[in-house]
Amino acid sequence: MRFEAFAVENIPLVRKGHDLAQIICERTDILDEDIIIIASTIVGKAEGRTFSPDDITPGAEAIEISKHIQFTPEFIQAVLDRSREYLISSPVLLVEMKNGHICINAGIDESNVEGEMLLELPADSDASAEYIGKRIESYTGKQISVIITDTNGRAFKRGQTGVAVGVYRIHPLKDWRGQKDMFGKELKITEEAIADEIAGAANLLMGEGSDGCPVVIIRGLSLRSKDDTSVKEMYRSDEEDLIKKSLKYLRDRR
Ligand code: GDP
Ligand code: MN
Ligand code: MN
Repeated sequence: MRFEAFAVENIPLVRKGHDLAQIICERTDILDEDIIIIASTIVGKAEGRTFSPDDITPGAEAIEISKHIQFTPEFIQAVLDRSREYLISSPVLLVEMKNGHICINAGIDESNVEGEMLLELPADSDASAEYIGKRIESYTGKQISVIITDTNGRAFKRGQTGVAVGVYRIHPLKDWRGQKDMFGKELKITEEAIADEIAGAANLLMGEGSDGCPVVIIRGLSLRSKDDTSVKEMYRSDEEDLIKKSLKYLRDRR
């Protein structure tokens, strides 16, 4: 078994209105079943999702939170505006976003963005992945999958890794349940987080800094889905998620 991962070279500095599908297709040959992994940073830029903290008026909650964390009330308000609720407000701001993704600062970032501007994640990264994926398919006539990634920290461990925040035509989980192990025993609870695994592999080539390498292609895995897919397939429900419940309990006790 073998798969190939390579970066698409010479991607420009992305600006609002850029056609990412065209930028990618002009710089590489796409084959059927390719998985195209795109850093959320350039999707956000192409969608014009930069903003200035100076344009935000913080509310009472943001001002209160700012007393216990090193961020400005304006930045905190920007995070809250994109969140369903916060789970931890200090010393980090951990929020559940409106689509269920849980991350620090709602994914708002200043790195790899020009000047004093901030950049938010796409409002609906599944929809962004579908939009770009369908355009790549119409430019090339090939059937592909797209994963939009962000770099996230992890609970329990140091170190950040690439994770999937939006998918097109690839299920984020692979269900092994019902299959047999090497000794014929049935696998009962194994769901493999394949979109995050692929995002992690792609992130190895992207890096986090000045590499200028926001698009990676993974070739040789046969994972394209015929039906619609969503990152929401990965998120646990409020009822099921013990960690989320515990964090809410601690938050509400204060
Ligand atoms: P994130 O993981 O989605 O938050 O994105 P990062 O800020 O970590 O950037 C991932 C990769 O994309 C790094 O190699 C960056 O240098 C690169 N990158 C970010 N923005 C651009 C851009 O506009 N053009 C190019 N060519 N590379 C970019
Ligand atoms: Mn990011
Ligand atoms: Mn990154």
